[in-house]
Amino acid sequence: MIVIRAYDGQRVGVLGMGRSGLAAAAALQAGGATPICWDDGEAGRAGAAEAGFEVEDLTRERVWQDMAALIVSPGIPHLYPAPHKAVERAMAAGVPVDNDVGLFFREMTDWEPGLDDDGDGDPLVICVTGSNGKSTTSALIHHILRENRRMAQLGGNIGLGVLALEYPSSRDVIVLELSSYQTDLARRLAPDIAVFLNLSDDHLDRHAGRGGYFMAKQRLFTIGAPDHAVIGVDEPEGRYLRDRIGETTEKLICISTGAVPGNGWSVSMKKAFLVERQGGKQVASIDLREAPALRGAHNGQNACAAYAACRLAGLGPKQIEAGLYGFGGLPHRLERIAQIGGVTYVNDSKATNADAAEKALLAYDNIRWIAGGEPKAGGIASLVPLLDRVKKTYLIGAAQADFAATLGDAPYAKCDTLEAAVALAASETEAGDTVLLAPACASFDQFASFEARGEAFRDLVERLEKEA
Ligand code: ADP
Repeated sequence: MIVIRAYDGQRVGVLGMGRSGLAAAAALQAGGATPICWDDGEAGRAGAAEAGFEVEDLTRERVWQDMAALIVSPGIPHLYPAPHKAVERAMAAGVPVDNDVGLFFREMTDWEPGLDDDGDGDPLVICVTGSNGKSTTSALIHHILRENRRMAQLGGNIGLGVLALEYPSSRDVIVLELSSYQTDLARRLAPDIAVFLNLSDDHLDRHAGRGGYFMAKQRLFTIGAPDHAVIGVDEPEGRYLRDRIGETTEKLICISTGAVPGNGWSVSMKKAFLVERQGGKQVASIDLREAPALRGAHNGQNACAAYAACRLAGLGPKQIEAGLYGFGGLPHRLERIAQIGGVTYVNDSKATNADAAEKALLAYDNIRWIAGGEPKAGGIASLVPLLDRVKKTYLIGAAQADFAATLGDAPYAKCDTLEAAVALAASETEAGDTVLLAPACASFDQFASFEARGEAFRDLVERLEKEA
């Protein structure tokens, strides 16, 4: 645990008792503060009480008289579409509102870390933000560093909450995946290396539109003032960001799925090759077809970002290359489950919207596509141009009538359930086909989460494998 000492002897409100809220309460308590916990849900409050924390209704005005700060979980609106009542109360009382990421950076910058280590420099903190690919890129950076015997921990929006990580010693690297909610609310940000992958419309209600969304991510660079930055320049926002921070950043690497103009330091994709250039010269080239878990152009972008971050962390091209090849990928993201009779089964349950499903469809041919679930605005209309890659679509869940209407004359079957879809698809496959779960939908109509949906798919495929 990372002990937070900034509020020793003071009362601190903690709103939201999920993974990050519970870790924040524990970290504050360990540093001598008294966390006062609240969650709108009964189960969250019970969890806090069970963990031994004081539970008080933070939406009441009187609790704010002697509170030093409010720590808010990322799932809770802090400004748009409207602030949570407790946040409103704290702001009205002039109490600072922060989150676990802000606390983390405060601890890292106020106190010399690792009191008992030899102190040859601070730990290196690498932060990754962007609309898509954050988890993959963060996990990839972490993997490459560890393969090269660097002590590295991974947390934030992936795996452990940031305050549940171990207190780093001076030679450690901490890789943090940060969402826009986290970068927006953190009062302090101080990454050593900051990565901006890409930007597409998402969570717009929480940021009052695309401008607010970009602003939230941009804070990692403007407030964070990293020494080194990796910037994806495939959208105007990325190019703007590069321009803004060009003066203040010591080393800057631009990444792209195409070419990066100019003679600066860049890492970009040329066909299936990742290419590093410096001063107009090619420094390294890596064949990503040899990297089994990095299929598709979108993963090319993630690989470029991870490569660039690791270069800035001091690794050489060859060291990174080995790490890219050895990366096993994350579960539920283009995860290759099995090959049965020449047919590949791929789980991309994390493709919960059409954008992500598009990346999956672009990564394969001869696809038997399992799609559907709880539909999102816009449905799959944007995917129609990709249907020539799809032999047949197997529809499931609440979206099936809508999706069937969009598919028109393209071959499809309404299967209702994932089980029926896998069975039918498997019975119709030929060698060379890929059965791809890329739902373009949320899972909540039939599953507790995208993870549960992916696990169910894996179980079904493993059953097929046993029967084969
Ligand atoms: P995040 O953590 O940002 O949600 P993930 O690495 O978990 O990103 O990937 C989520 C989904 O987005 C995956 O299913 C994949 O299809 C898609 N994706 C991954 N990387 C990218 C990228 N660089 N650009 C666009 N889409 C991507």
